[in-house]
Amino acid sequence: MVQLFLKRTDGAVECINAPATITELRSYVAELEGVEACDLRLSTAAYDLNDDESFDLLENSTLFAHLRLLGGGKKRKKKTYTKPKKIKHKKKKVPKAVFKFYEVKADGTIERLRKDCPSETCGVGTFMAQHKDRRTCGKCGTTFKNP
Ligand SMILES: [Zn+2]
Repeated sequence: MVQLFLKRTDGAVECINAPATITELRSYVAELEGVEACDLRLSTAAYDLNDDESFDLLENSTLFAHLRLLGGGKKRKKKTYTKPKKIKHKKKKVPKAVFKFYEVKADGTIERLRKDCPSETCGVGTFMAQHKDRRTCGKCGTTFKNP
């Protein structure tokens, strides 16, 4: 019979006679520790002992009993971004933006520089935005291509 030194979870060391299999050993130590066998991890200095492995502990080797740590799961891999972050469109604040919609002529009359939206839902007062090649209504989305 192989004699082992068992290092308990509280740090105490005991001399035990090892049973024939790791499974038996595990349940023996689990009972000693007062825990479920599945929560018990056994290892020698070198590696964890699994139930299906052959029992090849050396005489007088020291066995370590640990409790499996809850939440001691795999570390999550850090997410790597392949695409650069999208830059959000910011609304540019133009001071006195309404000024460019009108032009005051020398004789005091006002000319509207922007077209009103012809849509029923918008009508007079809703101006079309002047783009390079088109005019659009921000309210209803009506678009006209500039010639
Ligand atoms: Zn409109």
